[in-house]
Amino acid sequence: MRLVLLGAPGSGKGTQAQRMQARHGVPQVSTGDLLREAVAAGTPLGRAAKIVMDAGQLVADDIMLGIIRERLARTDAACGFILDGFPRTIAQADGLAAQLADLGVALDAVVLLEIDPEILLRRLAGRRSCRRCGRVFHIETNPPRAGDRCTDGGPHDLFQRPDDNEETVRRRLAVYCERTQPLIEYYARKGMLRRIDADGTLDEVDKRLEAAITA
Ligand code: AMP
Repeated sequence: MRLVLLGAPGSGKGTQAQRMQARHGVPQVSTGDLLREAVAAGTPLGRAAKIVMDAGQLVADDIMLGIIRERLARTDAACGFILDGFPRTIAQADGLAAQLADLGVALDAVVLLEIDPEILLRRLAGRRSCRRCGRVFHIETNPPRAGDRCTDGGPHDLFQRPDDNEETVRRRLAVYCERTQPLIEYYARKGMLRRIDADGTLDEVDKRLEAAITA
């Protein structure tokens, strides 16, 4: 399965991709996570990306396409992947199509997670991630359950992403409208777009997503 999850920041792409990867046996490929790993490792890419990410802007298309080329070449992505947060611009979508054509494969579907902007703001304000395993939680709607352990057996070490503060979130939403929303029309014209309502419990959205990709 080769899937793109499209949607505004906070629409639940990462959470749903994490849940889907186990079920479908294909990796979640989150460009945000790949960039955050580079930031944590202090690489030159990470240092440059941090400034752009903290400002709520997009990292340059050629850099993102290089990151994706490397990631999709890894063996775990040979049978499929769930792209989360990529592509985010028309240039990235064109570049992805060219890379997949080189590999002799194609996307199965692009699923748009649709949600009211007010709900997005609430979701992002309460979003927390585990520093060690990367799992995403929400302090009100999806906190770690009692007895829920991180991969190393200890409790999750939750933190708020630096770009989830209100001012940066508003900028990220504006950048989404300007740079990423045109992809809806782009993929709709190619007949690849499926839309789902991303408001609801995790299980409800999960079911809609599965129905959309099997339709
Ligand atoms: P995310 O975790 O997907 O919300 O991404 C966090 C931040 O990483 C974004 O606000 C961008 O600064 C950067 N980023 C992630 N994916 C991309 C992408 N495909 N193109 C450009 N910048 C990206």
